[in-house]
Formats: sequence, structure tokens, C-alpha cells
Amino acid sequence: MIKQNLLKALSLTAFALFSQCILNASRIEVTYIANEGFLLRSGDSKVLIDALFDEGSYDLFLVPSEETRTKMIDGIPPFDDIDLILFTHRHWDHFDPSVAAQFLKKHPETMLVGPPQAVDEMKDLEDFQQFSDQVKAVDLELDEETKLSINGVAMTIARLEHGPFMKDGVNVHKDVENLVYHLDLNGTGIMHVGDAGIYSSQKYFKEKDFEKNRVDILFSSRFDRGPFSKSIITERMKPEVIIPMHIPPGKWENVTAKFKKVYPSAIAFRTPLESKSFEFSGLAENN
Ligand SMILES: [Zn+2]
Repeated sequence: MIKQNLLKALSLTAFALFSQCILNASRIEVTYIANEGFLLRSGDSKVLIDALFDEGSYDLFLVPSEETRTKMIDGIPPFDDIDLILFTHRHWDHFDPSVAAQFLKKHPETMLVGPPQAVDEMKDLEDFQQFSDQVKAVDLELDEETKLSINGVAMTIARLEHGPFMKDGVNVHKDVENLVYHLDLNGTGIMHVGDAGIYSSQKYFKEKDFEKNRVDILFSSRFDRGPFSKSIITERMKPEVIIPMHIPPGKWENVTAKFKKVYPSAIAFRTPLESKSFEFSGLAENN
């Protein structure tokens, strides 16, 4: 009888420990908006990144529909109680100053973080003073990084080169300030590179210590398929989840197939407002 009670006690302890592990696991919900725009949710934290913009060519990138844009601005679930809106850079397929302004005016608790070039476009708006306290410009030199914690979200922000775009032998995107966000969202490490790439910032990624700065989810440039990028991602960074971004809707199958050839487990989003949830306790789970 004593033996049975002991066994019972041990199995109860094991069950309690197991439940504790489950409770400690960090769950994150990723909702696709358009192009490189995503809503990230974990616990009480909600972050919108590169999601507030409103025009552009359908061939090159997806744009949030008017309905989705209104939902975001009006804070209709899942877009209620957003802690942070982040912008990687000023380009109009990532950021629109007046859409961001409409959002901030309706949600005085939400903070915006972006590079000075994007924030300057907001300063030009007539009503900027109404929401200027909610706007934080992160001014960095190329390849420099800084740490910030805003509304409960800790992040390392680096300024890395925007991927080159050549016109008549000149890289027209050379001076675009592009911020890379490495968030700690409820214990999950999330990196969103904007239009930067591992291929175009080799020195930074070579020196980065990914043991200390874990990346569980990488929102990746679709161009990071070459040998250098692959070695950084698969041998050093080792994210559980890789999500390619900026996929032209008309070339979705082709671009996705090329990316998955290098990263077979990559997850490409296609349908606006599609959500996937992941759990990190050593294992990633995909709905
Ligand atoms: Zn860009």
C-alpha cells in the first residue's frame, strides 16, 4: 500500500512538472497582413509590423485591403490593444505616414517605432503634435544596434543596409534607413529584417552571437537563399520557423518553391489575415 501511495505521489509530481512545462511554453500567433506586414501576438503583447500602408502595385506586392486597414485603425479584434507599431523603413509598401497617424490618434496607448526617415514624414503632417508623444525615432549608424523596451516589449534594433536596387548602375536604395527588429515577445525571439538581408549585411551577421540572442522565428528576405545566408541561418541562427517575405502575388508558387528548396520547412503566407500559431518549448507547432 505504501508503495502504491509513493507511486501515486511520484506520478502526481511528474504530472505537475509536466503541466508546468506546458504553462511555461511560449505560444505565438502570427497573422499575415500583406507584403512584409504581420500582427504578432503572445500572452498580453501585440505588435504590428510594416502593416499600415495603403497603395501600390499588385504585381510587385500585396497591399492591405480597405476593410483590413479599417479594422486595424478601428482596433477591431484581433487588432485591439496593440502595444507597438513598428516600421522597418519609409518605403510605401511598408509604411504610410497618414495611415499610421490615423491609427495613433485612435489608440493613445500604442507606441510607434521607426527610423528617422519614416518619422520625418510623420512630422510633416499637420496634426503631428496630437500624437508626437507616441512616436519614437531610432537613429542609428549603419550596422549599429541599440536595445529598447517599450510597452513591455524588449527589442534589439539594428540598422542594416536595405537590399540593393540597381538603376543605371546606381543602387537607388543605398541611403534608405532600414531597421531590423529582434524582439523578445514573451520569451520568443523574433527577427524581422524588413528589406535588409543576410546576404547584404554579412559582417553584422557573422559577428552576431545567436547563442545569446536566440531567434525562434525569422521573417526572412526571400533573397537569402545563397550559400552565405544559408550557412548563417541553418548553422548559426537555427530558427525553428522561417517565413519568407515580400513575395510578388503573381509569382507566389515560383518564389516559394525556390525558397523552400533551400529551407524545406519554411512557411510562406499567402492569404491576408491567415493566422498560424507556434509553440516554443523546443518544438514548433503549425496550425
Ligand atoms: Zn524597401
